[in-house]
Amino acid sequence: MSTLAAQSPQSIFPGEPVCRACGGDGLRTFATSPEIPVNNARVFDDVDDARRVPSGALELALCPACGFIQNVRFDPELVRYDATYEEQQGFSPTFTAFADALAGQVIERFDLRGKRVVEIGCGKGDFLASVCERGGNVGLGLDPTADPERLSEGAAQLVTLRREFFGPHTGAIDADAVICRHTLEHIADVRAFVRDLRSSLAGSPGVRVLCEVPDVGRVLRDGAFWDVYYEHCSYFTPGSLARLFRDCGFAVDDVRLAFEDQYVLLEARIAGDGASGVPRDAEESPESLAALVERYAAGVAAETRGWSERILAARSRGERVAIWGSGSKCVAFLSETGTADVIDAVVDINPHRQGRYLPATGIVVSAPEALADAPPDLVIVMNAAYVGEIGAQLARMGLAPAVEAVG
Ligand SMILES: [Zn+2]
Repeated sequence: MSTLAAQSPQSIFPGEPVCRACGGDGLRTFATSPEIPVNNARVFDDVDDARRVPSGALELALCPACGFIQNVRFDPELVRYDATYEEQQGFSPTFTAFADALAGQVIERFDLRGKRVVEIGCGKGDFLASVCERGGNVGLGLDPTADPERLSEGAAQLVTLRREFFGPHTGAIDADAVICRHTLEHIADVRAFVRDLRSSLAGSPGVRVLCEVPDVGRVLRDGAFWDVYYEHCSYFTPGSLARLFRDCGFAVDDVRLAFEDQYVLLEARIAGDGASGVPRDAEESPESLAALVERYAAGVAAETRGWSERILAARSRGERVAIWGSGSKCVAFLSETGTADVIDAVVDINPHRQGRYLPATGIVVSAPEALADAPPDLVIVMNAAYVGEIGAQLARMGLAPAVEAVG
């Protein structure tokens, strides 16, 4: 999920920081935090290991030229992507439905039948397997956290997973489509990454590219502090993502928001000679982002205060409070609100997270069924998209707590 080998700290901190998307200077810092936990998506077998995760500094800065937002204090040396990195979301029916629909769209829009598909940052390979099984394609997935053992027997016939980062060492990619979902936000030197991608595709002139990242526009508008965490060192909007791809030799066919407007989806191809395309409708201007970042700090302060007060008020009434969803958002939420000591339970439907410990706080992750033994009065859901699914699961367990979602 990162070209770490190509990112020396010197290249990221060359004195006065410059934009890692366009190279521009005059970056405008709008949010800082001296210490936030790193490695939010990891879970640990040992509670002491979990509590000992290092901290890193956050300084979010906007590039007024291209609209890209980056943590200028990011140090790639602090982040580890290995088998303890547990990001798989395919256990949620809501997420699976979104991913399946997207796989179907990609097959249709890129005409992927009997083709060769490469996914960079494929995680556990769920999405690549879906594209390959449904379209009769063959796939190659690259990701340092990949786990070929988790592929189904059918998927393993079509999909090869390699546990490695993408970078210049990857060499030529011979493919009809390249997919890169929820990876670029983990990359510090995004310009080098997209340029390397363009270079690796020199021998595949007809290749189609799908890139998906979180939309920082929503984070800025909502003061969504739970979506800002250390591993995410790069933050995009439809405009800044499209501008980066065009600058690096791609033509952008489409850019749009998806998954309740939480994600940016971009479709690109190798640009022909000359112009590399005109801006699409969804691309906002860097100037409009400058106005949004002005509001961010106040939005975060209000959200942080609101959630802390909500949780403490419930506790003072003797109520039990649980968090549903133990991933990066949860770790960021606990860190920012300082409520780890008063939360009664953190539950997650991903069995690979259950019984293991969260970084920084060392809270154990339980299966949702554990809530039946000590019924909560308030369940805080870490993504509003899952409220329906979680409410139904609580009802099946005979529980009827208040359910509130961040975002
Ligand atoms: Zn820039």
